[in-house]
Amino acid sequence: MLKVYTILCRAGKMDNYSYLLVNEKSGKSAVVDPSEAAPIIKKCDELGIKPDYIFNTHHHFDHTDANLEIKSLYGSKVVANINDAARIPGFDIGIHPGETFTLGDSTAEIIDVSAHTQGHILWYFPKDKIVFTGDTLFNLCIGGLFEGSIEEMYSALQKIKQLPDDIVFYPGHEYTLHSIPMALHLLPNSEKLLQYVQKARQNLARNLPVSPIPLGLEKECNPYLAANSPEEFQELF
Ligand code: FE
Ligand code: ZN
Repeated sequence: MLKVYTILCRAGKMDNYSYLLVNEKSGKSAVVDPSEAAPIIKKCDELGIKPDYIFNTHHHFDHTDANLEIKSLYGSKVVANINDAARIPGFDIGIHPGETFTLGDSTAEIIDVSAHTQGHILWYFPKDKIVFTGDTLFNLCIGGLFEGSIEEMYSALQKIKQLPDDIVFYPGHEYTLHSIPMALHLLPNSEKLLQYVQKARQNLARNLPVSPIPLGLEKECNPYLAANSPEEFQELF
């Protein structure tokens, strides 16, 4: 199984999440979206882990800024969408969307969700029931359209909606607090959303991340996932 450690980076500024993944059987490990070196190094050293890989979801600096430092410190290999080779610092191993990448006995499916950026990918581990959504899906919200259209984001989100309800997702930022008012405004009668918000506020008050959240719950509570047609989705912008 895959053990996931959530590491808050750029705290109080962009509130990024990097994740340290350890395949427990093999000891193979990876960092998802190294945003800031110091907190990641602290966690790696605390656990005595030298990450074998760096997995990037997209090229933005707040997800790749520590690629080179982590790589030079631990010899980690940078794995990313081959189509983003020129924009990912320290790029080593290219994967095509639709392919898989293995970490010990855990396997990730690489899913193209181009919209926030062209070439943005999901790292989906079906057997471990985990997906890393970068800046495509946040708790109760989605990422901005930097390099894509509303239509592209809609189809990217349909790919996420097709993933099983019983997996959990890990986003690229802690933006929940900012997303609550709009979600409540758009889905005012959802009992599940009220419970979600209550739990989220409790976590944040204790400086804990809101995720992992079951994707099935997110599908019901996130207005962007709850939209059932391109027209309904369009109205959210
Ligand atoms: Fe981004
Ligand atoms: Zn970001």
